[in-house]
Amino acid sequence: MNIVIDFPSRIGKGPPVFDVIVIGAGASGMMAAGRAGELGARVLLLEKMSRAGLKLGITGKGRCNLTNEGDIPTFLKKYYPDGRFLRNGFARFFNQDLIRFFEERGVPLTVERGGRVFPRSGRALDVVSALLRYVQQGGVRLLKERAVREILVRDGSVLGVRTAWETFEAPSVILACGGASYPRTGSTGDGYALARRIGHRIVSIRPHLVPLETEEPWVQGLQGLALKNVSVTVWVGGRKGPSEFGEMLFTHFGVSGPIILTLSGFVVDALAQGKVELALNLKPALTPDQLDQRLQREFRAHPHKTLKTILTFLLPKRLVPVFLDRSEVSGEKKGHQITALERKRLLHLFNNLRLTVKGHRPLEEAIVTAGGVAVKEVNPLTMESRIVRGLYLCGEVLDIQGQTGGYNLQAAFSTGRLAGESAARRALA
Ligand SMILES: Cc1cc2nc3c(=O)[nH]c(=O)nc-3n(C[C@H](O)[C@H](O)[C@H](O)COP(=O)(O)OP(=O)(O)OC[C@H]3O[C@@H](n4cnc5c(N)ncnc54)[C@H](O)[C@@H]3O)c2cc1C
Repeated sequence: MNIVIDFPSRIGKGPPVFDVIVIGAGASGMMAAGRAGELGARVLLLEKMSRAGLKLGITGKGRCNLTNEGDIPTFLKKYYPDGRFLRNGFARFFNQDLIRFFEERGVPLTVERGGRVFPRSGRALDVVSALLRYVQQGGVRLLKERAVREILVRDGSVLGVRTAWETFEAPSVILACGGASYPRTGSTGDGYALARRIGHRIVSIRPHLVPLETEEPWVQGLQGLALKNVSVTVWVGGRKGPSEFGEMLFTHFGVSGPIILTLSGFVVDALAQGKVELALNLKPALTPDQLDQRLQREFRAHPHKTLKTILTFLLPKRLVPVFLDRSEVSGEKKGHQITALERKRLLHLFNNLRLTVKGHRPLEEAIVTAGGVAVKEVNPLTMESRIVRGLYLCGEVLDIQGQTGGYNLQAAFSTGRLAGESAARRALA
């Protein structure tokens, strides 16, 4: 049965049927709805797609890296533009609370490299199911295929929401529509339009955690090659930017992989400022002196082997032809024939293999959307809007984005939980 209210003639005149309406049944919306229901609120959860948690179900390559083991100070450094907005949300509901939450609901978890937390089953869908059970236990009414078109506001207070053919009333509304990346999961940027229409400022939307496109044609030949334990430094118009150490991947259009995704937020913004280059250090664990000694040792140990063979002791095989081409030293030269000048050129390249960034993959392919509702307009103690009373915001619709490692989902769960609590308390007061 649908609740049809004849807006605007009746709205605000009869008692509302719901205490809290949540827009969007993603990570933050399900947590918010479940929590509000648990606290005794009558909750309506409206989802645009035919299934809830579609994006959550594909997170972490289908395994869902739902949080990280780090402490709060470490977490706060992982967000852009300013993680401090999340401090209170984390103080109220943080990683250990989240771990307990899922384990108590039959999803045992495991910690992997870098403190990343995953379901032991390796199935993101177990996380979705646990949240759906939470929502159900809270008595939440979930309506699917209901895209909210408008948030109704009167005299600075929220009144309810309107879908294509219904109007629902409630004293508290939670906006949990997510971002604009991976639109096939339902996150098509509706939240920004809904918030803008009622007076919120939207910080410009850009892709974050997105692969980068590079100019050099040789990159295509390396498609699929992963480099481990390398470091990448961003250079913008000749000025040194941030560096990351770890794993990267060559693709048919450029580069991707964990450290590239981490640097991508900076690169996307830097592309507007000047030429952006990536300097790859292929042996970051060795100082230039140590690397020089290592090279000399290899040449002494293999005086009659060709340079192209010797380099395979130091580099992935597929990278060697590119490396030789860039160094302009013949791969046919023998170890004992390499001059000091040639060794210097090789050394330089080990520390500074350059790629020119010509762009980034589109927003649709980004893991996260940068930008969104300006957090200055949201009270971090409650997640309530400072523009519209009774409106709460949580998750990726906010202008706060995290690095890879479980930081985005923890932010969605913590802000969702806080929004659910605050919305329920307001409605039930
Ligand atoms: C491929 C991929 C992998 C990822 N992996 C990880 C990971 O392993 N760890 C991590 O921390 N983060 C990961 N993320 C990021 C993480 O998934 C998001 O940051 C998180 O899901 C945001 O939660 P949310 O609730 O704000 O939005 P979403 O989960 O996107 O949910 C928003 C919901 O709102 C609904 N909706 C939208 N508009 C309307 C409307 N008008 N009316 C009603 N409903 C609407 C949508 O259909 C959707 O169900 C990944 C993202 C992607 C794309």
